[in-house]
Amino acid sequence: MSAYEGKYAEELKKTAAYIATPGKGILAADESTGTIGKRLSSIKVENVEANRQALRQLLFTAPDTHQYLSGVILFEETLYQKTDDGVPFTKLLLDGGVIPGIKVDKGVVELAGTDGETTTQGLDGLGDRCKKYYEAGARFAKWRAVLKIGANEPSELSIQQNAQGLARYAMICQENGLVPIVEPEILVDGTHSIERCAYVTEMVLAACYKALNEQHVLLEGTLLKPNMVTPGSEAKKVTPEVIAKYTVQALQRTVPPAVPGIVFLSGGQSEEEATLNLNAMNQLDAKKPWTLSFSFGRALQQSVLKTWSGKAENIDAAQKAFHKRCKANSEAVLGTYKGDAAGGLGDESLHVKDYKY
Ligand code: 13P
Repeated sequence: MSAYEGKYAEELKKTAAYIATPGKGILAADESTGTIGKRLSSIKVENVEANRQALRQLLFTAPDTHQYLSGVILFEETLYQKTDDGVPFTKLLLDGGVIPGIKVDKGVVELAGTDGETTTQGLDGLGDRCKKYYEAGARFAKWRAVLKIGANEPSELSIQQNAQGLARYAMICQENGLVPIVEPEILVDGTHSIERCAYVTEMVLAACYKALNEQHVLLEGTLLKPNMVTPGSEAKKVTPEVIAKYTVQALQRTVPPAVPGIVFLSGGQSEEEATLNLNAMNQLDAKKPWTLSFSFGRALQQSVLKTWSGKAENIDAAQKAFHKRCKANSEAVLGTYKGDAAGGLGDESLHVKDYKY
């Protein structure tokens, strides 16, 4: 087995290592037009391009936040948008040391013969799209595979299909200069225990790394975006220390040290929960050969969205809310978060059943 050694190999390693810089993380702002529509409708703002641009501009121009971010994941429309002053978002971010990334999957479809399990679409024409995105300034990509925990789930079929899809996507990205974020999200929905989530997470990650190796993916030029190991959404909660212990153990057992960074999704946790759990992992006295950081969507944007509510006079306050979460998560990556961003909107649960991104 030999990993990808093509023309982008060195650049991929550099990009992935940069994104995994300790103290920095990723803002996932790649909601598809449909998904951002749901967010906007929750604050009674119409889902038109001008409003989508306004929200993204608010996030990307928030004062003093670039220091906490190494990447931002964009949706295709946003990759080509500009600020009101005509500065391309990609330039604005790069000038601040924040690498633009791009969501390249096309959502999920049901796997026939399963109880609602899915596989992710988007491999057709992916190479050409990656080339175009690279030219537009993107240097990394995201592909979200979704698995669920049930009495008989995830099935072997869904584990294998999603692992193969992620590996194929990863290789196509690398051949075109984009660092693939490998995201096998196991949904939190359910009544299961944390032990069951740990077991399933280990099985899924083991299958993913087997497939990635078999398809010659250069692991040094990838990032992993997993769920944290937690009890199901309808089970009793446990402390951040317990979540940290199970999550780090699952990762130790399955993720090779060649991978530079593991950037968690927030998966419906409240903003504050996600930060506290990440902080607990980074405080844990255990072997951790990768940077453990964040690639949060909901847990970086919810209080911002509510504070903004689509009103120009609230932009300043909304940007301050964003700064607060970025700083707290940056500290969590270093294991130095003291809990000072707690309270208010940050404590609200963001769980949505069967969440679509
Ligand atoms: P959440 O942090 O809202 O779970 O989303 C992150 C993401 O990018 C999912 O693909």
